[in-house]
Amino acid sequence: MKLKRFAAFILLALALFSFAACGVKEEQPSLSSASSAEPAPPEPEDSVARVMAVGDNLIHNVIYNQAKQRGTAELEYDFSYVYENVKPIIQKADVAFINQETVLAGKYFEPSNFPRFCTPTEMGDCLLDVGFNVFNHANNHMLDKGQKGIAATLEYWDTKADEDICILGMYKDENDLYSCHYIEKNGIKFGFFGFTEHTNGLSAPKDMTERIVYASQEEVIKKAVDVMRAECDVVIVSAHWGNENYSERTTTALTSLEKELSQKLADWGVDVIIGTHPHVIQPMKWLDRADGGRTFCIYSLGNFVSAMNGPCNMLGGLVDFDVRKDGRTGEITVENICYVPIVTHYGRGMSNVKLYPLSEYTEELASAHGCKSKTYAGFSLKYLNKVVTDNIEEEYLFEK
Ligand SMILES: [Zn+2]
Repeated sequence: MKLKRFAAFILLALALFSFAACGVKEEQPSLSSASSAEPAPPEPEDSVARVMAVGDNLIHNVIYNQAKQRGTAELEYDFSYVYENVKPIIQKADVAFINQETVLAGKYFEPSNFPRFCTPTEMGDCLLDVGFNVFNHANNHMLDKGQKGIAATLEYWDTKADEDICILGMYKDENDLYSCHYIEKNGIKFGFFGFTEHTNGLSAPKDMTERIVYASQEEVIKKAVDVMRAECDVVIVSAHWGNENYSERTTTALTSLEKELSQKLADWGVDVIIGTHPHVIQPMKWLDRADGGRTFCIYSLGNFVSAMNGPCNMLGGLVDFDVRKDGRTGEITVENICYVPIVTHYGRGMSNVKLYPLSEYTEELASAHGCKSKTYAGFSLKYLNKVVTDNIEEEYLFEK
């Protein structure tokens, strides 16, 4: 019965097709043989999306206390002041990544400072308003409030399910871990995955359903990368790794983990690696990979914002690049890579924490920076520029 029905359907489809083909033929004016060749279809155009990434959004107590002072009856914590000067930059991105270093568990916990951070959920709302749409939570502070902190953070993001965003690094369960976490812009599908080297010695309860991925779990990372490689045009991995650094000198010395795992990620087919955690900026490098392609690795973007003490912790990076998808072959190219140094400024007593692009930062501001009197008298524009040029190659230092 089924076969008969199928055959009848085929016959009907053939009849309709020949009727339509005849109709088209009759309507067409007769063409001379010289112009009978069909015009070549136009070359499919390339798609391009602009991607930006910043490092650790590390919310110390002074930052949320200042946000509370600026709050209103409707908005208890107003963080917008911190990001005012960088918002116009972030707004230009199609895809904007940030490492949210602290859990957004304010619904169940009071805000708290180092060593067990917790941040009001108004921070998430603020970052969305600034223009971020990719949020990484795989970092050493993700267990600061235990399983409940993770569940609360995921619960917060669930309230934003209508937003076009991608949450990574904190997974609801095994199934979620191996699902494709992506954001699609301008016809390009970006898959994101995040892991952390450690969680400050805190371990997850044995019965925790939520999943954290550690750098040592290479098989898990590779499996997750494979899932995205199969489903996405671009695979971006957030790697929270390396040694933390607080002195006036940044260190370009990469740990063996950074060096070895970055090469493995490249060979597994990752397109871009976004490194964070050392609290200082580290170099960016192209890695040749097994399939003949290459991977762009940013070893550490440093802090985006923090109320740390060290002068080198006051300088972070915003990396800004285009991803081009060849309209004909689908081949992906990472291009126009530009590095925008960002300064965390605060006054004496860590007052008025606020970000500035280094290009807008002045000697006057540098001389009033709270860390100048407290930790490093040499804090100046010259110092900040030297940290940048010691770590980042000149070809990336231009204004788009
Ligand atoms: Zn960290």
